[in-house]
Amino acid sequence: MTYTFPITRTQHPKPKPNWDNLGFANYFTDHMFVMHYDEGQGWHDGKIVPHEPITIEPASCVLHYAQMMFEGLKAYKTPGGSVQLFRPDMNLKRMNNTNLRMCIPAMPEDLFIEAVRAIVQADADWVPSGAGTALYVRPFIFADEVSFSVLPAKHYRFMIILSPVGSYYAANDGGLSATRIYVEDEFIRAAPGGTGACKVGGNYAGGMKASEKAMKYHCKDVLWLDAIEHRYVEEIGTSNAFFLIDGEVITSPLTGTILPGVTRDSVLALLRKWGMKVSERRLSVEELFAASDSGKLQEVFASGTAAVISPIGCLHYEATDTDYAVGNGKVGPVAQRLYDTLYGIQTGSLPDDMHWTVTI
Ligand SMILES: *Cc1c(COP(=O)(O)O)cnc(C)c1O
Repeated sequence: MTYTFPITRTQHPKPKPNWDNLGFANYFTDHMFVMHYDEGQGWHDGKIVPHEPITIEPASCVLHYAQMMFEGLKAYKTPGGSVQLFRPDMNLKRMNNTNLRMCIPAMPEDLFIEAVRAIVQADADWVPSGAGTALYVRPFIFADEVSFSVLPAKHYRFMIILSPVGSYYAANDGGLSATRIYVEDEFIRAAPGGTGACKVGGNYAGGMKASEKAMKYHCKDVLWLDAIEHRYVEEIGTSNAFFLIDGEVITSPLTGTILPGVTRDSVLALLRKWGMKVSERRLSVEELFAASDSGKLQEVFASGTAAVISPIGCLHYEATDTDYAVGNGKVGPVAQRLYDTLYGIQTGSLPDDMHWTVTI
């Protein structure tokens, strides 16, 4: 099926930001995509309109019971000037898994891809091309039904907004730099049976307390441990976590409390292609800290759409007030190679032999 979405162009195009100093989600483009869902009618009336504040009834479910979900992907400018997406089919698949768990109606595959395509095309002059930059695409759905019943809603809104973003590592000319991470042993992100495998707002609201503690220890992010024993590593902030110990790359298995990252999946595919020893297995803090003590903890890095790969140079554990060293505290060769390869494929400066990119 092909869709056409009417476009209402803005009468007040915004001045473009300084492309060399974008930061993350500080600027939004001229337009946004909006579509409604009504029971019996399905998703309907998708359209592109100027990016501006929306009206919402104060009694809408989402404002009280958080029935919502979101996704995150990026559009990249290639050296030839075209624009491409990285594995948008994976975002659609994850979106529908989240929707199923949150009692939100499913999104047809071609409708999602066409909507992303249409809004990125409409604002194609906002896709930056500098080192480390991209156009961040944020699709989200929320229940806009007026109801205080704690029941799945019958009306939803789907929107896509866009933000040109810079490198996560602005301080380092777009290159990687290693950061300090706080190992959280009190608060948890997700418990078995909960919504940890879904991209839903509630997961993040509940995690802010730990981010506050991380800042107190001058750490950039939180390493989450499992909810039952507070012992097994799960994720780093809003990224998946990888540990290189004595030649083995370890990441948590997708147990239902981990967000199945598109970048995680891509990292695993590349590492396996490169013939590295890769394990999706549980890793306890005892094993992790012992590896650091014996000098076998070679690298730690996080993977996610926002930063692609974030190398970690040090782990701080509050319970024993200890700093655990990672390698030499600098960006490791595996993290660097993954970043260069992934960002190269994403931006079209390296051949896409994995068939991951989709031209807009
Ligand atoms: C989005 C997200 C990730 C990374 O997923 P990508 O698809 O790689 O961007 C990992 N963990 C959490 C909690 C997330 O929200």
